[in-house]
Amino acid sequence: MWRIRMHGRGGQGIKTASQILGSAGFYSGFQAQDFPLYGAERRGAPVIAFTRISKDAILERGPISSPDIILIGDETLLNDPQSAPLCGAEPTTIIFVNSNHRPKELSQKFEVITANLTDLCLQRLNGRTIYSSALSAVGARLLGTIELEDLLQAVEDELPGVSSQMLKGNLDLAREVFEMVQPVAIPQRVEKALTAKPLVFPQHLPVVDGAPIILDPGNMALRKTGNWRVERPEIDYDHCNKCLICYARCPDGVISLAPDGRPEIDYDHCKGCLICAQECPGHFIKTVRETGIFP
Ligand code: SF4
Ligand code: SF4
Repeated sequence: MWRIRMHGRGGQGIKTASQILGSAGFYSGFQAQDFPLYGAERRGAPVIAFTRISKDAILERGPISSPDIILIGDETLLNDPQSAPLCGAEPTTIIFVNSNHRPKELSQKFEVITANLTDLCLQRLNGRTIYSSALSAVGARLLGTIELEDLLQAVEDELPGVSSQMLKGNLDLAREVFEMVQPVAIPQRVEKALTAKPLVFPQHLPVVDGAPIILDPGNMALRKTGNWRVERPEIDYDHCNKCLICYARCPDGVISLAPDGRPEIDYDHCKGCLICAQECPGHFIKTVRETGIFP
């Protein structure tokens, strides 16, 4: 069995990537299982998805803590201790990171494979950073056991309702990435026999013990969401007329007003949804690709 774990952010198509990979594996004659694990349902929040592919029946359930392949769609997660995308990695784990950095810049400890999927997505998907087709293509190719036609069929089946132009972009993207990545030798592990564990019946606890309740007021600012950005909004102050539409429309309230009435973006907390850039009537907010800095 191959166990693949994918990491990304809400809105990047990570769950769909796991579905495409699972379907592609199924079409290539394997058993498959795929599912996501969400935290907060919020655009930009870290998301994990899992795919298991096997020649035999898959009896294992639940999150994959010891993956054969880790696919990281958003390199900024490497700096996020709450995501810890390399958790459970062994020296033999195949790790792919969507990045334009060299592998050694990303991890000294692990061998990492990199490719710049973001720029390919921006080109093929009309300026969008949705990695479902690209990341599943990386997984399919690394495994080396999934045929290109099966991958393309899975892309088509798992993206119902998208426009014909967007579907073509996704198919072209999947094909391009599949042909760009090289298969790798994935070490076979000795599968342990699964044994039935005794049933555990959950107990009802008092709500303050059993639910994640935030008791400390005013602590939202401590969670810096600035590293969620793929693109950064930058206000062109030479042309901004201080209409303040961006100030009103920012869903996270991270645009404040300077004493002279200019809107100012708090980059520690701006998550890069780019609603401000879409809403600015004069298009005076440009977008700049974040590239990130790694030690
Ligand atoms: S991109 Fe613009 S709208 Fe979105 S969080 Fe940042 S400042 Fe607010
Ligand atoms: S919406 Fe545009 S013009 Fe209006 S305040 Fe914001 S940046 Fe300036």
